This record gives sequence, structure tokens and C-alpha cells, in this order.
Amino acid sequence: MRYMLLSAILFCSCASADQPIALAIHGGAGTILKSEIGDSREAAIRADLNAALDAGYKVLEDGGEALDAATAVVVRLEDSPYFNAGKGAVFTADGRNELDASIMDGATRRAGAVAGLTRIKNPILLARAVMERSPHVMMIGAGAEAFAQDMKLEFVAPAYFKTEHRWQEYLNAKAKAAQPRAALPISNYYGTVGAVALDGKGHLAAATSTGGMVMKRYGRVGDAPIIGAGTFADERCAVSATGWGEFFIRLNVAADICARVAYGNSSVADAADEVVLNRVPALGGNGGVISLDAKGRVSMPFNTAGMYRAAIDGEGKRVVAIYR
Ligand code: ASP
Repeated sequence: MRYMLLSAILFCSCASADQPIALAIHGGAGTILKSEIGDSREAAIRADLNAALDAGYKVLEDGGEALDAATAVVVRLEDSPYFNAGKGAVFTADGRNELDASIMDGATRRAGAVAGLTRIKNPILLARAVMERSPHVMMIGAGAEAFAQDMKLEFVAPAYFKTEHRWQEYLNAKAKAAQPRAALPISNYYGTVGAVALDGKGHLAAATSTGGMVMKRYGRVGDAPIIGAGTFADERCAVSATGWGEFFIRLNVAADICARVAYGNSSVADAADEVVLNRVPALGGNGGVISLDAKGRVSMPFNTAGMYRAAIDGEGKRVVAIYR
């Protein structure tokens, strides 16, 4: 009996009173201007950011895992029509929605990713199933959807993802893209969604989901489902990104931030600043990240006019913001 008690004390990995919990979320970065959004749309976006933050934070407060908190946030934002993930995703050049997502567990480095989905209501749930219920890390297109069928995930008709706002954005972009080489107009608003979470056991997780970039062609895949580029978590650092995905892939942004912490003795905040504010723009890219360390310190740098973001840090401080 005494031995059992002692081993319970020694080996218990339960939440400790000193271990803070924290959560940061984003709904995309870009040229987000107050003058262009309009009051009622801004209020609705803020309401959905608040609701997603509350959904994830409740998981952590109830003693749940970082992975579950990050998943809860992303599902909520995928279901919102205001962000470019799940419902409300941007359109490809041929007028379809192709969705990408990924998730990573910092404590174990398990990861799951999916790309090129057209009928899965919540791509993040499929990414999580890839991580937890398959021997693989990444699945794409028809194969990923066949796996989703086996996993009994919810399918929707492709029309479910369409919103009038995104359709008009697509028609405008299409009208501008006359030349083949000019056919990928660079979004000035990247609406990817993501979350980074720290639970009461001190474990970190990161998750990201997106419709990609407007007018993307030829099965283009961005950074969001690439583990290391748009999503990364380890024992000390978790990152989810939004921005011009090609640059985030080339710079391996999320993993680079965490590598600077692991090998360069940097704080997560300094590492995120260096990569987002210096390295990405130096190559000509733009965007932002949300990042979190194991003490619950949040940093959310971006080099665009705005980034939809919200957080509750390890000290319980809450922020919901859009503009600089
Ligand atoms: N990073 C995403 C991509 O390139 C776009 C976004 O952040 O909205 O697919």
C-alpha cells in the first residue's frame, strides 16, 4: 500500500498546481482593414474567436489534453463561415474547395496531416485520425477520404463549404487573373485557422486547418498540412502559422522557431519574432504565427496589417484582437 502511494506520487503525470494552462488561436493574417470589414462582420468574427477560445480553454480547465483543446478550437473555427477553413474556405482556380489540415502532439511528436480534401466537414478531425489511428503521418485526396470513410467521419456535399463572400472573392480574383503565369493572385488575407495549447501536464500541441490560397491550381498544397512548415510542437514550443504558404514551406517556419528554442537557447517569443518579422519578409513572404512555450507564454507576431487572434496565457490574461 505504502509502495503504491509512493509510486503514485513519483510517477503521476497529473496536472500540478504550478503548471499553467494556456491557449492561443488564430483565424488568419493579412491586409485586414477596419475600413473594409464593416462593424457587423467584425462583431461576428470576434464572437466566433471568443467562442472558439472558450471551447478550447474549457477543455484545459477541465483537466483535458492540449491535443483535445487545439482540436476543439479548430473544429469551431472550421464550422464558422468567416474563416478560410472548413465552411467558408477559399475557391481554387476551377471553383472548388480543397482543404488541408495538420496536428502535432509536442510530448510524443506524433503528427497527422491531410491535404486536398473536398468532402470532409472537419479536416482537422481527419488529420487527428491519421495521427492516432493509422501508421502514417500524411494522407491526400481520394485516399485520405477513403480513410475518413473507414473512420466514420462526417462527409458533406462540396457545396457545404461555399459562402457568398468567398464566391465573390473568387469571381473577382478570376477576373484579374488573365495570364497563366499571373493566375495565382496573392491573397491579401490569409484566413487559415489554428491553435496552440498547453495542458495541465505541461504538454503542448499545435493544429492548423485551411482552404489554402484563392485561385490555387494543379493540386497546390500550402504550408498548413506540412509538419514543420505550418504546424509544429515539441516539449518546449508549439507553433501554428498563417500566411503565404510557399514561403512558410521554404523556411520551414514552425519547426525553425522551435529549433531556435531547442538549439539556440532562444525564447519562443524571440524565435517567432526573428522568423516572422525578419526571415519571412526577407524572402518576400508575409503572414504570422501563434506560438506558445511550456510556461504558458504566448506570442503572436505577424508582418501584415492584421491577424485574427485570441489567447489566454499562463497567467490567465485574455486577449482578442484583429489589428496591429
Ligand atoms: N498558409 C495558407 C496556405 O498557404 C494560407 C493561409 O494562411 O490562409 O495555404
